[in-house]
Amino acid sequence: MADAFDYDLFVIGGGSGGVRAARVAAGEYGAKVALAEDDRYGGTCVIRGCVPKKLMVFASEYASMPQEASAYGWDIQAGPFDWQRFKAKLNAELDRLEGVYRKLLSGSGVETFDQRATLKDAHTVELADGTTKTAKHILVATGGHPVRPDLPNADLGIVSDDIFHLEQLPKSILIVGGGYIACEFACIFNGLGVEVTQYYRGAQVLRGFDDEARGLVAESMIENGVDLHLGTNIVEMARASDGATTASGSGPIWVKSTNGSEKTFDLVLFATGRDPSTHKMGLEEIGVKQGRRGEILVNEYSQTDVPSVYAIGDVTDRVNLTPVAIREGMAFVQTVFGGRPTPVDHDLIPSAIFTQPEMGTVGLSEEQAREREEVEIYCTSFKPMQSSFAGQSHRVLMKLVVSKATRVVLGCHIVAPNAGELIQLVGIAVKAGLTKEQFDATCAVHPTMSEELVTMRNPLRSA
Ligand code: NDP
Repeated sequence: MADAFDYDLFVIGGGSGGVRAARVAAGEYGAKVALAEDDRYGGTCVIRGCVPKKLMVFASEYASMPQEASAYGWDIQAGPFDWQRFKAKLNAELDRLEGVYRKLLSGSGVETFDQRATLKDAHTVELADGTTKTAKHILVATGGHPVRPDLPNADLGIVSDDIFHLEQLPKSILIVGGGYIACEFACIFNGLGVEVTQYYRGAQVLRGFDDEARGLVAESMIENGVDLHLGTNIVEMARASDGATTASGSGPIWVKSTNGSEKTFDLVLFATGRDPSTHKMGLEEIGVKQGRRGEILVNEYSQTDVPSVYAIGDVTDRVNLTPVAIREGMAFVQTVFGGRPTPVDHDLIPSAIFTQPEMGTVGLSEEQAREREEVEIYCTSFKPMQSSFAGQSHRVLMKLVVSKATRVVLGCHIVAPNAGELIQLVGIAVKAGLTKEQFDATCAVHPTMSEELVTMRNPLRSA
């Protein structure tokens, strides 16, 4: 099928999106496909993101269990957390998963090159060893990378990629940022027994999410022990002169903040955003247009201005989530190899933030919905049975944003243990465009937290 070219498709980047596109194009459509990856197969999600992060979430959640179990009559004593033991198991699991990814590619007949590839022209890539390969279509799926703020000595701080390689856990950590990564790792480190301070420059963490939901996440984080400072940022940092070797390598880090305070921390983590990985890829030279942060600009079919070059995933900075990159990869394959032009659907994507408690969200926040139309808000916040019995004061939140005119549920926001699992299911109903009355026609499952989603009879407010 590859006619004048070496391949039908050359994929640059072996993360979730690139691997899915490559193996489906080859395995299901019989295309001749190659893929180049200069790091580990599996990309950010598998190697230095979602997967190891979620395993760390699990590890950190055990901390509160002995206390809760004792309220239920168990005699369980908490012992110390062994980072080395966990890390060895984690590394073994990541090796296993990387092997699975490699096998998926070879099993579908995809040829792989373990080196960096750049674009030479509209149909040619150049590998790091100097060889060139031609392809009818090129798919760029190089993902993104964390960025540090523009601050002297910022390299004293680590970024999320570095967390999984720490030799030891710090005694204290400063986390800078208020997004997904900052909040998730504040909860993880707090659970693992590290003293956590978090600086966020804005008025409330998790900007863009429903105000009430993020307010409860922040309140719970503080209640659980995270020393969260809002409206605060780093202005200066330096290696402190005193002190022994710490998790960051050599001595604590002195930090001066915008509120004038001066403190030292064993470790500073910058969770201050991610940029698309497009540097020195040859994109500009061949006429692929990029946005302000280097993101590749694509149309609804993930096609760039150079018709043979497509891009999917975080490198396009549309919705930076693994399942979205995978769907973009599938839509690309259907469009190019399946003969069915398939635009990518970015509407009503459910997602979860793995804080403690978790937050699951789909659709519009109350604030976004109000700007568009008149809405009714159905919301309840309560102490769930399991932790309340154990004497804990944690609250959960279940919230529906409903259109006054059509009764369609425009958004759902859940702050609760396992909210990620819950929002996956509610996401189906919201994506299907169901109305509040159709939610209510569903019988409750009792006793559960989520039964509230079908039993809230009266709106809390309308606006
Ligand atoms: P985000 O863009 O979500 O957050 C970056 C944070 O850093 C914001 O709070 C931002 O503040 C702050 N910030 C940016 N620049 C500076 C600066 N110079 N000084 C101080 N603070 C700064 O990025 P993340 O790195 O947390 O996550 C990246 C993406 O990865 C997410 O958008 C998400 O798509 C994905 N992700 C998804 C997860 C999930 O699904 N559970 C988990 C982790 C990541 P401000 O709000 O003021 O801009």
